[in-house]
Amino acid sequence: MHEAMVAQNLLEKISEEAAKQNAKPISAKISCGKLYAINDEALRFAFKAIAQDTMCESMKLKIEHKTIQAHCKNCDLDFDIEFSQPACPNCGGDNFELLPDAPLMLEEIEFQEG
Ligand SMILES: [Zn+2]
Repeated sequence: MHEAMVAQNLLEKISEEAAKQNAKPISAKISCGKLYAINDEALRFAFKAIAQDTMCESMKLKIEHKTIQAHCKNCDLDFDIEFSQPACPNCGGDNFELLPDAPLMLEEIEFQEG
């Protein structure tokens, strides 16, 4: 249950921030790399379950999956890699290495106004 752990972690971070702001959170944006196997629906479901009866109840989660980046060893360009066409967009070479997948990040939290 990977998503359950992620959801727990998110809830803790959001609750902490909400306590600091003294406001009710209504939505949060998170991002993670494509290789970071998060199932959106499973995460939303897990979050909803543990957020029940907390101030994070009925929050919306926006989940963005970032593309994987590669670094071209020919021309030093960093680019978003397409696995359907794995080549450097600048020099067309295939002498590149994959950069580490983006970690899971809590990007922003939206709070209820007033
Ligand atoms: Zn290149």
